[in-house]
Amino acid sequence: MENRGNQKHIGIFGQSNVGKSTLFNLLLDQDYSIVSQECGTTTDPVYKAMEVPGLGPCLFIDTAGLFDQTNLEKDRMKRSLKVIEECDLCLVVVQEGMISWDFIEDLHRKKKKILLVQNGPLSKETKAKIKEDLLPFNKDLILKKLADELGDVKEVGLLDGLVKKGDRLLLVMPQDIQAPKGRLILPQVMTLRACLDMGCLALCCKPENLDQILKDDGKDLDLVITDSQIFKEVKKALPQGLPLTSFSVLMARYKGDIKSYVAGAHKLDQLDENAKILISEACTHAPMEEDIGRVKIPRLLRKKLGQKIKIDFVRGLDFPDNVKDYDLVISCGSCMFNRQRTLARIDQVKAQGVAISNYGIIIAKLKRILEEIRY
Ligand code: SF4
Repeated sequence: MENRGNQKHIGIFGQSNVGKSTLFNLLLDQDYSIVSQECGTTTDPVYKAMEVPGLGPCLFIDTAGLFDQTNLEKDRMKRSLKVIEECDLCLVVVQEGMISWDFIEDLHRKKKKILLVQNGPLSKETKAKIKEDLLPFNKDLILKKLADELGDVKEVGLLDGLVKKGDRLLLVMPQDIQAPKGRLILPQVMTLRACLDMGCLALCCKPENLDQILKDDGKDLDLVITDSQIFKEVKKALPQGLPLTSFSVLMARYKGDIKSYVAGAHKLDQLDENAKILISEACTHAPMEEDIGRVKIPRLLRKKLGQKIKIDFVRGLDFPDNVKDYDLVISCGSCMFNRQRTLARIDQVKAQGVAISNYGIIIAKLKRILEEIRY
């Protein structure tokens, strides 16, 4: 099954006991979520992946009931509302007298695709108030509608605008202590797949073979893609004019908003040793000795701005609601987040007047080659 960050996210929302978990289990054909008449049975969101015909791999998310009367309401609501950020489409289950009109309006304000699913009869008056598509509680019809709604959404390609069919690409991939044993990291796998999809030829090498490969095939190359951590070394080895980018820059274009990230990197020019910076990783992993987010980027930042700068770290979904105290937020490649969640986080940070950048772009800036790379 595809990485979660590349799956379409479909959230199921509605008031407590309206039938959300029943719908979740119906769509997935298994009893994943506990179905009960008791309020607040679903607390944390439940995620399950499924291949939807005509749409591909999707992640269905069962959420806690909106506006239930339990003490945990506030927490559950917060978690359910966070899920909205990552949804490509929201299924809202409705029953007569159990429709959260304000919530539906809020989804519209957030520009989310919405489908209502009817669980039981609705009065004429209620039906007249509903502006959205209303579906029966029927698995096949709902899945078909999902494929219709999401199947035609044009995906941004990882290499769109950077290469054309037939181009020759060189991928420089260090296989050092930080590389996972026996496999390639996701951005590298995704880049190779994008090369195939675009009809490009891909050569791969480790940094220690770069000189040799450039000697043998350098003049026929159209683009070099490297790990950001060795930007400067690779740039130095390349012939003049051969375009260079990095895997994390590709991920920044694909998942995030590259213009905001570049503007955020330039914010560094206005900062000094009083700067407060937040480094945010989208997943939890045990930091290695020379971890890029924990060690290398902080070292480069301190070298540029001074030893006294304050750097905080957050991981996964533990992102603060208020980031106003920070001068800059630096986000990882976010390969574990989908585009919707990454964009929502960028919007959240920018709405508070704070600059945001990402690992690849900030490294290019700190190594003074941002103006020389392709993005
Ligand atoms: S820290 Fe970010 S870029 Fe690295 S693996 Fe986790 S989600 Fe992906």
